[in-house]
Amino acid sequence: MRRKLVAGNWKMHGALKQNSALLAQITAEASGLFCEVAVCPPYPYLAQVQSLIQGSVLTLGAQSVSEHPSGAFTGEVSASMLADFGCRYVLVGHSERRALFGETDVVVAAKFEAAQKAGLVPILCVGETLGEREAGDTGFVVARQLSAVLDRVGVAAMVSAVVAYEPVWAIGTGVTASPAQAQEVHAAIRAQVAALDLGVAAGLRILYGGSVKPRNAMELFGQLDIDGGLIGGAALVADDFLAICLAAN
Ligand code: PEP
Repeated sequence: MRRKLVAGNWKMHGALKQNSALLAQITAEASGLFCEVAVCPPYPYLAQVQSLIQGSVLTLGAQSVSEHPSGAFTGEVSASMLADFGCRYVLVGHSERRALFGETDVVVAAKFEAAQKAGLVPILCVGETLGEREAGDTGFVVARQLSAVLDRVGVAAMVSAVVAYEPVWAIGTGVTASPAQAQEVHAAIRAQVAALDLGVAAGLRILYGGSVKPRNAMELFGQLDIDGGLIGGAALVADDFLAICLAAN
């Protein structure tokens, strides 16, 4: 059985005081949860959050990582630095990184590999734009994004990785993929991995992300191939995030 994972992506939100209040409530109320819960704050708050979640059920993640181990890359943060601050997870290939920062499939695959080399678990984000969906290209786009990683690191690497299907048109828009739409893509992702290794595919956690809210979380997480969620906006509201975690429980 795959243990569900709910990961909160804070994006570029947060402040010392606000983070303390948010995590005080989440750590207190998440204590009895069976599902795994992770939070991914902006880099400057990793140390603060690492200390705030100590002794709780929460785990720490980051939102991006350099593909380089060290060197003259001003402004970048390496995977080993994230590991130093207690990160277990790191998002790679979030659609905002792909669209706004020019991260190609090749770069995303390199980041995935760099994360794993430092002992982190990459959460590989894949998903189509509205135009791609309307053109009937969803399957092709998601398969291409996943293939770029599989070709670089091999299927065995997926044992210590997570995939997040995030249709770009559903991120931050309030429009959610229907459970059936999401399940269809999740099943296709698992089938693509299964074609290479059935056991790896069976154990692979595939999260759904895109306007997950307390009102729709239960139905989404009830789908056969949906193993939790990557949560943006709702991760900044303790009551909402906790309700989503409960739905995954
Ligand atoms: C995200 O940032 O990955 C995300 C899914 O955001 P939201 O939940 O706000 O759509």
